[in-house]
Amino acid sequence: MKLTDTVKRVISELSSLIFVPKCASCFTALPSKDIPLCEKCKKAYLIESKRLCKSCGRPHRMCNCRIELDESRIPYVHLTGYDVRRSSVSKSMILHLKDTRLDSAFDFLADDMLMALKERYLRLFERGNVVITYVPRSSKARRKAGHDQSEQLAVRISERSGAPCIPLFVNQSGSVQKKLDRNKRLNNAMTGYALSSPELKLDNQIVIIIDDIVTTGASIGTCAILAT
Ligand SMILES: [Zn+2]
Ligand SMILES: [Zn+2]
Repeated sequence: MKLTDTVKRVISELSSLIFVPKCASCFTALPSKDIPLCEKCKKAYLIESKRLCKSCGRPHRMCNCRIELDESRIPYVHLTGYDVRRSSVSKSMILHLKDTRLDSAFDFLADDMLMALKERYLRLFERGNVVITYVPRSSKARRKAGHDQSEQLAVRISERSGAPCIPLFVNQSGSVQKKLDRNKRLNNAMTGYALSSPELKLDNQIVIIIDDIVTTGASIGTCAILAT
């Protein structure tokens, strides 16, 4: 064995001792950084993803509910339910990802999201006129965390599906810029989203907007209206 190989092996072993991979939900130690969840959490996640939507009674992925905003009824696909009062593997994982860029967990969720999207909208992907984008977090929050979790998911879904990822929106909350105000088509003080480039034409394109958590639907709904 060459000296460089030995050095590389020692560095690799030392780094795995220093950076112990942990489950993205319960934080127990894992054997590899490529695994996002421990066996127990993975099983719980599968059970959560099979639960039924409280509003329409269908499985989450096949949910018929719409985000209703400003007289628009926007279809959406969700992987599991999100309940602020109830703990769950998916909730714990997605909250952890807001502050931690854990590639294995982003890969896992992107795979699952794309599968769920194709279960509903395979024909759109086959037609090839799909654009992927995301609900951006504020620049302050992005700077603090070092990443944008919805962008991480959107980029991965784009890579896996071949559909381009275009950052269509800016989040002006907390840092309103005068030049962006002109582009703002919705005066929504709660969300503060605007089109990043009003000149961009999306004729005949199906825009899929990725967000990590949807509660009231105000953020993703506002972005969906901006894109139409
Ligand atoms: Zn776990
Ligand atoms: Zn539903």
